[in-house]
Amino acid sequence: MKVLSEKVAAIASSATMDVADQAKKMIREGIDIISLSIGEPDFDTPQHIKEACIAALQRGEIHYAPSGGIPELIQAIIEKCKRDNGIVCHPEEVIATCGAKHAIYQGMEATINSGDEVVIIDPAWVSYEPCVQMAGGKVRHYPLNTTTFQLDDTLSDKITQKTKMIVVNSPSNPTGTVFNSSSMRLVADLCEDYDLIAMSDEIYEKLVYGKVHQSLACIGDMGHRTITINGFSKAYAMTGWRLGYAIGPREIIRQMVKVQQHGVSHPTTFVMWGGVAALTGDQSCVESMRSEFDRRRRYLLNELRIMGFEMAPADGAFYAFIRVPGDDIEVARSWLLNAHVAVTPGNAFYSPTWIRISYATALPKLEEALQRIRTQKEFLPS
Ligand code: PMP
Repeated sequence: MKVLSEKVAAIASSATMDVADQAKKMIREGIDIISLSIGEPDFDTPQHIKEACIAALQRGEIHYAPSGGIPELIQAIIEKCKRDNGIVCHPEEVIATCGAKHAIYQGMEATINSGDEVVIIDPAWVSYEPCVQMAGGKVRHYPLNTTTFQLDDTLSDKITQKTKMIVVNSPSNPTGTVFNSSSMRLVADLCEDYDLIAMSDEIYEKLVYGKVHQSLACIGDMGHRTITINGFSKAYAMTGWRLGYAIGPREIIRQMVKVQQHGVSHPTTFVMWGGVAALTGDQSCVESMRSEFDRRRRYLLNELRIMGFEMAPADGAFYAFIRVPGDDIEVARSWLLNAHVAVTPGNAFYSPTWIRISYATALPKLEEALQRIRTQKEFLPS
């Protein structure tokens, strides 16, 4: 009996799993591991958001909801997109999803046919390629210039007859880079010239430091061909709530709603009320988390610079991306085993010889982690 789906079986497990599994095992054994591999804010969800969710639960918001999300959340997303991103959209152009990740997955399912190609910019976040593969498509990797960390004309070399979509992620996980307006313009021009869809993952938009985040959908006519992905996990410290959204052309959103309907129905009803409170309530919580991330970021970058590491411009998200002298998996394993510090090898993001360090960890822990890394002379820049 052939029990496995060939499509799913062909999806590679992450190269980082070994190191991550090893870290978990060591923690279970009681070893004091400092984890700088974390991809989520270490803050609690702001109280007013929790209270809105509890109130919704208590007044009985426990039934099925519309597949695209409750109207109150859709309206809050529309107002937020207009206010923060300059994107004007209508309810049929919005879908609330179970996290930004599921918006990405459903966006791929709704647009990609077997054999279609999707251009992904490396270093790239881990889930884009598996989502393309599950939809039956194929990824073409574009290696970003690791001197500028911005896009240039060579991106067009990756476009073929089969190209359907380009994925952009600014601010970026893992590099922390924010694309400037000429990089964004370049993507917009290519999409228009070659009639492509853009998927713009803007989940880290609120975490920028001295740079301005620009939404792809508000450049020229890009609103007609862009699926903008966003969510609550990073800006409002709501990773476990599993709430996100996408906005895009109504025909694409209509297809995404069908995928959602038959897959998960909709995000949890009372959770969506927490989302309404997040978007319509006081936004000072976003700024206080951002400024604490910025404090850690400045400390971390300064120390890494003193240690001699080459790094990506960390202008957004909560990651430093550094080049290491040696094989990244070997360096990560060594730091874990010998210094008890967990980091993520660049291999996971198609970028060997780099390492991602998350600063979603309290400052004293960061200080201690760097102290430990400094003892690992073998893998410090000479
Ligand atoms: N996009 C990027 C770039 C991310 O880093 C993440 C989370 N690590 C997601 C999407 C998914 O976020 P969510 O928790 O909303 O599914």
